[in-house]
Amino acid sequence: MAKRDYYEVLGVEKNATEAELKKAYRKLAIKYHPDKNPDDPSAEEKFKEAAEAYEVLSNAEKRQRYDQFGHQGVGGAAGGGFSGGGMSMEDIFSQFGDIFGGGSPFESFFGGGGRGRSRQAVGSNIRIKLKLNLDEIANGVEKKIKYSKKVVADGVTYKTCSTCNGRGQVTRVSNTFLGQMQTTSVCPMCHGKGQMVDKRPPGADSDGLVSKEVTTNLKIPAGVEDGMQLSVSGKGNEITGGSSGDLIVLIEEIPHDELIRDGRNLIHNLYISFPKAALGGDVEVPVVGGRVKIKIEPGTQAGKVLRLKGKGLPEVQGYGKGDQLVQVNIWTPKKLSTQEKNMLKELEESENFKPQPQGDKSFFDRMKEFFH
Ligand SMILES: [Zn+2]
Repeated sequence: MAKRDYYEVLGVEKNATEAELKKAYRKLAIKYHPDKNPDDPSAEEKFKEAAEAYEVLSNAEKRQRYDQFGHQGVGGAAGGGFSGGGMSMEDIFSQFGDIFGGGSPFESFFGGGGRGRSRQAVGSNIRIKLKLNLDEIANGVEKKIKYSKKVVADGVTYKTCSTCNGRGQVTRVSNTFLGQMQTTSVCPMCHGKGQMVDKRPPGADSDGLVSKEVTTNLKIPAGVEDGMQLSVSGKGNEITGGSSGDLIVLIEEIPHDELIRDGRNLIHNLYISFPKAALGGDVEVPVVGGRVKIKIEPGTQAGKVLRLKGKGLPEVQGYGKGDQLVQVNIWTPKKLSTQEKNMLKELEESENFKPQPQGDKSFFDRMKEFFH
C-alpha cells in the first residue's frame, strides 16, 4: 500500500512549526488511541501512521531528508527505519513522554506504555465518564469519584489448576498430514494464572470476585478537553493472582451557556444596542468564573472582535493561557413604537447615518488575524 504524505497524515502545511506539528499529532493520538477505539482496528493503523509521521517531521534532520527525498529519504519503503509495519507500540508510547510531558498526570494518561504487555494477569479496566464545566476545566479540579469495582472476596481459597498443573499453559499435540504438530496456548481454565478458586464465600463469582463501591480522589489538570481520557493505574478491577486493571476516566465537557470553546480560546457573541455602538460605553461580558466590564469605543462597527488577553484556557501541558475573543454584534430592534419609528426616520435622513465603509477588512480576515 502506498504511504501517505506525512504532512497530509497530520493535516498540517509543509511549513508547519514544531508547535503546530505537536498540536496536530496530539489531537490525532487522542482521537485514534486504541484504548478509545477498542472495536475499530483501523484506528490503531491511523494511530501508528500519525506517530510515524510525527516521529519523522519532529526531527529536523529527518524532516529535511523527507522534504528532499520523500519516504525513501527516511528509510520508508526501502527497509530499515519504519519498514515492516511501522513503529512498534512501545516506540509510540515512549514518544508520549515528549508529547504530553513527563512527571504529569498524563504520564499515566495512556497507561505509560507498559500495560497489557506484561505476562502477569491483569484485571480489566473500568471506564467511567466525568462531566466537567468550564470553570473546572479552566482551573483544574479535584473530584471524589464513586464507582463499583470487582475485588477479591474475603475468605477465598485457591487450588492449583488441574488442567495445566499450575503452569498456566497447555500444550496440545495433534496429528496432521504433515506429521505431529505441537501448539502451546494459555490455559483455558485458569486463563494463565495457574490457580483456580477452591472455596468462595456466598455472593462471590466463579473468579472469587465481588462488586464493591469504592471512592477515589481524582486530580484533573486544568485545560482538559472533551474526549480526553485520564488513566489511573491500579484503580480498575482486581483479579486473583494478578494486579488490578486501570480506571479510565473519559472527560465530557458541559457546554457553557455564553462561552464557546475553541481550543484554548473562548469566544463570546456580544450583542449591544445601536445607541451603545454609536455613543460607546461600558458593557458586561461573561468570562470564566464571573463577569467583567469592557469598554465599547464610540463608533464601534458590528463584527469588531475584542480580545481579552489571558482570559482563555490553559493547555494541559502548555504554557500561558489562551484569550477570550468578544465578537461585537449590534442588536436591531424587531418591534418599534410609532415614536421610535419617527425618531429613526429622522436619523435615517441625517448625513452622519449614511454608511461609509472604508478599507474595512472582511470579517474572515479579521477572524483569521485573531486566531493566528
Ligand atoms: Zn490452568
